[in-house]
Amino acid sequence: MEKYLSDRIKGMDASGIRKIWQLAQKMTDPVNFSIGEPDFDVPEPVKEAAIEAIRNGRNGYTLTTGLNDLRAKIAAKVSADTGWDDPQVIVTCGVSGCLMLALNALVNPGDDVLMPDPYFVIYDQMTKMLGGNRVYIDTYPDFRLTGEHVARAVTPASKILFVNSPSNPSGAVYSEDDLKSIAQEAKKNDLIVLSDEIYSDFSYDSKALSMGRYYENTIVMGGFSKSHGAPGWRLGYLAAPKHMAAIFDKMATLQQYTIVCAPQPFQVAATVAIDYPVDDLVAKYKAKRDMIYDGLAKDFGLIKPAGAFYAFVPAPGGNATEFVMKAIENDVLIIPGNCFSQKDTHFRISYATSEDMIKKGIARLKDLL
Ligand code: PLP
Repeated sequence: MEKYLSDRIKGMDASGIRKIWQLAQKMTDPVNFSIGEPDFDVPEPVKEAAIEAIRNGRNGYTLTTGLNDLRAKIAAKVSADTGWDDPQVIVTCGVSGCLMLALNALVNPGDDVLMPDPYFVIYDQMTKMLGGNRVYIDTYPDFRLTGEHVARAVTPASKILFVNSPSNPSGAVYSEDDLKSIAQEAKKNDLIVLSDEIYSDFSYDSKALSMGRYYENTIVMGGFSKSHGAPGWRLGYLAAPKHMAAIFDKMATLQQYTIVCAPQPFQVAATVAIDYPVDDLVAKYKAKRDMIYDGLAKDFGLIKPAGAFYAFVPAPGGNATEFVMKAIENDVLIIPGNCFSQKDTHFRISYATSEDMIKKGIARLKDLL
């Protein structure tokens, strides 16, 4: 049946993470450090809003761009984060949906798409599928992207730059100076920035800042999968300043011809979620981050992750895949760096799990040294 496949899809690799999960099926008493979703459930009032919406018959399509109430609230939030006057908003199926719209609207075959390495896997695979050239910007060892990095990587064919702070898989959070220097280079080279801010609530040492505040040609992306424990609701949004209307309108048209709209009951619930404070939930994650850092910093040389719920840890011996195989034999599930990077020197821990599991996992990883 292979002959029927499109050339586009043939080039797409199955996620390396799934391959590791398959290996993990044999584990008997696993500590699972591989999961990219929070271990808390959706807050009750937000759940109630979704249930009530379903009961009240709010089960039809919405406008392609989403419910007006929700878009107004998102626009107010993005405006506060970026300083943009009345941004345009599309509610989508997760940040994954935003990436699908933005990359399809922007990437031509042969365009250079710059991404900090390590990167979130969809940036890499979707760019590849669209025929874009992936330009990986090495951000080891502290994983903070700066203007200097961008200046070194940029080419005449460069069109798009990904920014992801707080970051998956590294947990890095970019400072104001980092963002300003990135903005300077983006402007100099006339780039569009795709700023994936899905982890913006999970920043432990300072407030996470939006790239949109520093650079006007930015599409900001956010969602509810991580902040409100609702990845299965498939709800996210993108926002762009008014002068980007030509791009915005094409993204809306593409949504009309693909997913049509995000699920209405969850859009209704998101109008509650967006006002629901998640500070207590995040405070618990800060404590988990501290446990991981205190447990692994000295022996593994881990640089303190400042956000999201990941640590990107140097693998003892320098070969992450080898170390991950040993960890799996020892009932700890971690992901090798080459799932998110051109290098295979680090492994990713997701500490979105219980404190007991974190303690157990740290002890088992130390045993392997
Ligand atoms: N962006 C990053 C950096 C992520 O880590 C994830 C999910 O793991 C996504 C986007 C996709 O999120 P969503 O569930 O909103 O599609």
